Amino acid sequence: MSQRAVVIGGGVVGAASAYYLNKSGWDVTIVEQKGFGSGAAHGNCGYVCPSHILPLPQPGVMSKTLKAMVSPNSPFSIKPRFDLALWSWLLQFARHCNEKDMLATGVTLQRMLNSSKALYEELFANEPIDAEWQESGILYPFRHEAGMEHFAENDKFLREHFNHGADRYDGDEVVKLEPALKSGLAGGWHFPGDAHLRPDKLMSSWKTLMESRGVSILEWHQFQGFSNGKSTKATRAVTSKGDIEADAFVVATGAWTPLLNQHLGCKVPIQPGKGYSMTMARPKLCPKMPLIFEEHRVAVTPWPSGYRLGSIMEFAGYDETINPKRIEMLRAGASHYLHEPTAEPVVEQWYGWRPMTPDSLPIIDRSPALENVFIAAGHNMIGVSMATATGKLITELLNGTPTHIPVEPMSVKRF
Ligand SMILES: Cc1cc2nc3c(=O)[nH]c(=O)nc-3n(C[C@H](O)[C@H](O)[C@H](O)COP(=O)(O)OP(=O)(O)OC[C@H]3O[C@@H](n4cnc5c(N)ncnc54)[C@H](O)[C@@H]3O)c2cc1C
Repeated sequence: MSQRAVVIGGGVVGAASAYYLNKSGWDVTIVEQKGFGSGAAHGNCGYVCPSHILPLPQPGVMSKTLKAMVSPNSPFSIKPRFDLALWSWLLQFARHCNEKDMLATGVTLQRMLNSSKALYEELFANEPIDAEWQESGILYPFRHEAGMEHFAENDKFLREHFNHGADRYDGDEVVKLEPALKSGLAGGWHFPGDAHLRPDKLMSSWKTLMESRGVSILEWHQFQGFSNGKSTKATRAVTSKGDIEADAFVVATGAWTPLLNQHLGCKVPIQPGKGYSMTMARPKLCPKMPLIFEEHRVAVTPWPSGYRLGSIMEFAGYDETINPKRIEMLRAGASHYLHEPTAEPVVEQWYGWRPMTPDSLPIIDRSPALENVFIAAGHNMIGVSMATATGKLITELLNGTPTHIPVEPMSVKRF
């Protein structure tokens, strides 16, 4: 008889974990508190980007963070409040703002990103999943020469330390590459190895595939704890609609994970990093490839079926409101670069909570309290980009086989 696994959380990390577990012979049930794929997995920008090697904590970032805290119009903001968990998170973040940690973290992130991209390629080549996967790279256009030159330093650093470079396009050369851009920009940098997909389609298509293979997906079932008697092994997941027995459990609850700390036997320092997106019909002059306007911190994703602007990072706790000013910042930012920054109809205005750890690495580890409970959470701004590698790692951990990437740097004991 197959071993049974319960995956808690039907986000992109839970989906990938369930997929690889099922593929290796586990009998899998996913428990999701709302609809499958309704968390950060839903309205994100869909980049699968091996170029996002460097973590958020970098030398000099802390002073920018402090400035952003007092500027209401910054795309990065922290709602000032007395919240011990937030201040402890910020302290840990500050401790990682040095080159040594940045390089060490980059090594693990690069392994995760490269493995994930290869696994997505395999997934889309071999499975009936339609997620509008495209490998057109990601372009960073700049209005100002200073932006181009700052990126040039970044490019040099990435080439030297990670053997990963971008291609430079000066002046209107960038418009030849991407005709949706206005002329007169300083130029742009293109990472040709990046890819993108449509996240909501990935999730619905993956759901259909997994259900056809016998994975049971229980929506509107909220996980509330484990039942283990006095044993160090959990026997059941307790949910709002009854208990589910299993041999192993995977907690993939994204930004909600710290709310489960008492059940996991550890303090998971994840803060919800709220981002926004706006999804529309395709403009007539639609970009051919994803664009990141770093000077205004707006990201653009085009698909055959639509078009999205996304960005913003608000540390405002578990706040569920949509701030119209934030949506307006997306529109205004894109208008500096694109002939047609927006289009009608606007299909959705959305927010999602990125699961932010203070060092930018996810947690992929066994719970310190229960030996058959595993945590797969804290994927920060690149959870789609790291989901498939995470699913494979979780499957290796549950099977007790060697992992294809060293998992020690992602241990929960590092905090
Ligand atoms: C605006 C924006 C743009 C982004 N763009 C990109 C991008 O381009 N590329 C990229 O790689 N990443 C991107 N991200 C980040 C990415 O969305 C996240 O890193 C990723 O979705 C995290 O996946 P997850 O499965 O851990 O969390 P989620 O997708 O949030 O899933 C967690 C799930 O767990 C469920 N859950 C929580 N608690 C319980 C419970 N007690 N019981 C049952 N279920 C529970 C939740 O309902 C949720 O469905 C973006 C994020 C935002 C906000």
